[in-house]
This record gives sequence, structure tokens and C-alpha cells, in this order.
Amino acid sequence: MITFLSGGTGTPKLIQGFRAILNDKNLAVIVNTADDIWLSGLYVSPDVDTVLYLFSNLLDESKFWGIKNDTFNTLEFLQMLGFPSWFNLGDKDLAISLFRTRMIQKGYSQEMIIKILSEKLGVKATIIPCTNSHIESRILTEDKGDIHFQEYWIKYKTDVKIKEVYIKDLESAQTPGLIRKVIEESELIIIGPSNPITSIGPIIQIKEIEILLKKHKEKVIAISPIIGNKPVSGPTGKLMAVKGIDTTPLGIAEIYKELCSCLIIDRSDLTMAKQIENESGLKVIAEDILFKNPASVTKLAQIILKNRGLYDK
Ligand code: GDP
Repeated sequence: MITFLSGGTGTPKLIQGFRAILNDKNLAVIVNTADDIWLSGLYVSPDVDTVLYLFSNLLDESKFWGIKNDTFNTLEFLQMLGFPSWFNLGDKDLAISLFRTRMIQKGYSQEMIIKILSEKLGVKATIIPCTNSHIESRILTEDKGDIHFQEYWIKYKTDVKIKEVYIKDLESAQTPGLIRKVIEESELIIIGPSNPITSIGPIIQIKEIEILLKKHKEKVIAISPIIGNKPVSGPTGKLMAVKGIDTTPLGIAEIYKELCSCLIIDRSDLTMAKQIENESGLKVIAEDILFKNPASVTKLAQIILKNRGLYDK
């Protein structure tokens, strides 16, 4: 079993490479839920849905969110009726959110809802929310007040003055029991190249998960979402800077050094390898970690598995 810690873009891209060589049944994903948001009475869980769509082969891989060939008729009609429509949800995507909301109202946990959705969508991988509690990545701004991460990213397109970023209600977050089982049973745990502050951050700051990763750090590796001095995409750089962390693979090592034993950085950052090793104590491997096409991701997955003695072709 291989377990990933994932947000909704970088790590799902990486997982595609592993899916090309391993059976989905042998993959587990612990997914960030701090992006979840109530919108017009619906509970939307963007990262979970991206991972569900990935494993059911429904994902629109041109955007890495939503369902391929989805239509947006409901959203357009809601907009005409004056409903907030800044968050893009296709018609099928909305159906999933309607289903999820109904299940929440009936008292089902996130873990149970994902299990049921997985069965209905034919997902063979094990997908687990990082918590069954509602937690939220929040951005404290000078000009827009205290806003949800989705408002920062999608509504205001990061055009705000950030004072702080924090995860609300993290301390009381309940960890699904299955997380302990997959971490203990996995041969390899991969902290994927997702945003370390608002995607991986909420997962690794849940106390029980942090303790489990520390205990099993020999089999935990991380892949940098930063190449050179900027992220491949998204607001990762800005959010790391708010926390006073270097927007380089060195900064990534600083965040993950207690939780893993190895960091994979890009080949173009090879000159940083020695310094990272000296400062963090992590083993550093330099490979091509820019996912240009499916073949490049599969190649990286093969290299990782071979390095761990888990692939002999
Ligand atoms: P979100 O949930 O949509 O915010 O997405 P994630 O947190 O899962 O992913 C965002 C991160 O993925 C960013 O920090 C990007 O730098 C990283 N990322 C996107 N594409 C690539 C890639 O091709 N290679 C690497 N190494 N990182 C990537």
C-alpha cells in the first residue's frame, strides 16, 4: 500500500503516474478538507472531489478540477437569480455536492460519505478525509477582513493584502480511525507536491496524524511543489512568505523535516541539495518533478518505487 497526503492539484497530478503502474486498490489518499466551504446551502469539498474524480476517471484533466465535459447550466441560472456564482461548479459537480449535503443532513460523517461516493463512482483506491470535523483555511486580510481560502483564491484571485493565514478549528479536529491503519500498513507514504500551508498544512497539523508521521518518518518522503524560488502554480509562494518561510525547496524541507526522511527536489535545484541535507538532515534526491505530460509523471513514479525497492521492472 502506498499512501499520499494530497490537496487538489499537485498531488493528484503525481498520483496519475502511480496509477499507470500500480493497481488503484494499492493506493490510499489522505485528503485535505480545509478547502471545504458552504456555498448557497451546499457543502462543497473541492479537494476530495478532485481525488474522487481522478480515481473514477471523470476528472477534467485540462483544469484538474470538475468533471470532464460537464455543463454549467445550473450555475448560469443561479447567477441569473442573483445567487453567488463566483465558485465554478458544473452540473454534475453540483449533483455530487447536493448528494453530500443531503448525507451530512442525515448525520453521515465525511469518511462515510466518501466511502459511499467511492462505491457509486467505482473508485477502488482508499480515499480518506484528513478529519471528520469541519476545519477551514482562513486568510486574515487588511482590506477584506477574515475570509475563507476559496474567497481569497477564487473570488478575489489573491488580490488582497494578507496579514495572516490560519486553520480554524484544527485543535478539536477528529481523525478518522482508518488513517492510523493506512499509515501503519503502508510501505511508502508520500507528502505530495501540494500547497504546504493550506493543503498539506491542515493534514500534518492534526495532532494524531503528526505523531503517526513522526513515528513512521523512515517510510515518509516529500516532493517539492517549489522549483527554484517559486511554485509551479497557485498561491503557495505568497502563503509561505506570510509565514516567513523561504519560497524555495529549502523552505519546503524546513516545513517537513520532522515528518519525513527524504525530499525530492527538481534537477535544476541540485545546487541546493547539500545545503538542504546539512540544514534539515533529510536525504535529498534531485529528479524531474515538473509534470509536463503523463509519461514524465510515470517516470518519476517508477524512480520513486525503484528507489524504495518496490518496483523491479
Ligand atoms: P489546491 O488544492 O488546488 O490548492 O492544489 P494543491 O495544493 O494540491 O497543489 C498546488 C501545488 O501544486 C502548488 O504549490 C504547485 O506548485 C504544485 N504543482 C502543480 N503542478 C506541479 C508540478 O508539475 N510539479 C510539482 N512539483 N508541483 C506542482
